[in-house]
Amino acid sequence: MTIHTRARAGDGSIGTRARTRLSRAGVAVAVLAPFFIFHFPFFIFHFSLGAQAQAERQYDLLLRGGHVIDPRNGVDTIRDVAIRKGVIAAVEPRIDPTTAAQTVEVTGLYVTPGLVDIHTHVYTGTGEPNSYAGDNSVYPDGFTFRTGVTTVVDAGGSGWRNFDDFKSRVISRSRTRVLAMLNIVGHGMRGGAFEQDLTDMEPQPTAELARRNRGTIVGIKTAHYAGPEWAPVERAVQAGTEADIPVMVDFGKNWPERPLAELVTKKLRPGDIYTHVYSGLRGELASPGHLNPALFAGRARGVIFDVGHGGGSFLWRVAVPAIQARFLPDSISTDLHIGSMNAGMKDMLNVMSKFLALHLPLDEVVRRATWNPAREVKQESLGHLSVGAVADVAVLRLEHGAFGFVDSFGARLQGTERLVCELTLREGKVVYDLNGMTTRDWTTLPADYGAADVPR
Ligand SMILES: [Zn+2]
Repeated sequence: MTIHTRARAGDGSIGTRARTRLSRAGVAVAVLAPFFIFHFPFFIFHFSLGAQAQAERQYDLLLRGGHVIDPRNGVDTIRDVAIRKGVIAAVEPRIDPTTAAQTVEVTGLYVTPGLVDIHTHVYTGTGEPNSYAGDNSVYPDGFTFRTGVTTVVDAGGSGWRNFDDFKSRVISRSRTRVLAMLNIVGHGMRGGAFEQDLTDMEPQPTAELARRNRGTIVGIKTAHYAGPEWAPVERAVQAGTEADIPVMVDFGKNWPERPLAELVTKKLRPGDIYTHVYSGLRGELASPGHLNPALFAGRARGVIFDVGHGGGSFLWRVAVPAIQARFLPDSISTDLHIGSMNAGMKDMLNVMSKFLALHLPLDEVVRRATWNPAREVKQESLGHLSVGAVADVAVLRLEHGAFGFVDSFGARLQGTERLVCELTLREGKVVYDLNGMTTRDWTTLPADYGAADVPR
């Protein structure tokens, strides 16, 4: 009977199999009565082991009692989340813990989709100094899981000439899911001499490579251009159109010849992404404290506005009036690199906490770090906890206290809440566990534990 209840609690088909097994067991008892009586204790022992094994097969991991925030599915309440074979298997008000091989109590914590950071710089290892295709970038795994991030997009570190190197050096060797926006510059983000060279901005080979790597190359990037010409933007849009992927624009140096209004109302397509939206470097403010109306016009056309905090692209004197005017970011991203991570930006959760400090509700912040960015780069399989979705999951703690949040100019804003990552799952596997909530206390383990095992 116990078996019956367990099976029903999860999956109807397993319940049916369990009932079949019980009736077959009844027949076996009638035919083999003498044998059965003699072996009764042994039989019970094995039967319960079999039931146990069956229960264990139902779910690998159960996150129990957490507050699930899954904006894609409109979930913002207490739910249990069960995982099986690397995918979300059930999200229910209550899931019987006996149906899971491992249960982790997450009461008091928030369970969200693994965070998706669409503006990072992770093309490193080339040995090139002062380069975002080199030393200025960071290996993703060292910076992602500890902050709940399971997917990053490298924003233009590589171009069509060096994407394959990036792929073999970082993308295919990372546990983090690494996607890429291909720079319209063939050599990628290798510094001034390369990034100002209009002759190396070729839509054709860029689009061709993007098409060949569909699903990994999810956008085209133009960045850092210091001249007054529109060519970098126009060629990026041409490549993006041919490859059917969005363009992300770092609008470079501000020029009257190419104003922000023309970019977001004429040059970009709906779905293209304007990053560094709170930088104040390119006319985002019309006057102190007042947003450029072009931002609203761009949004009305369907242009996407992304944070891209970085080392020099987030100012309170821009972000505060923007949020007061309800000009919220479509996506929250870090612009992670060796400079930003040690300055005001720090990490994804710190940037998200800044928006809590600006009084955005938590579910709106989570939406902008999960489902929104996933959709922006047309990866709709990511950024949510639907049954069947990949089990990339973040378990977050919302701390209350007195916290300081620093912008790119060293100005502080005080807040009372900070998000901290407790646990990160990538394809259902624990990849970060701050307080060891998925592990056992050492005193409960065998006296010689670890002697023969590989350390976890
Ligand atoms: Zn960047």
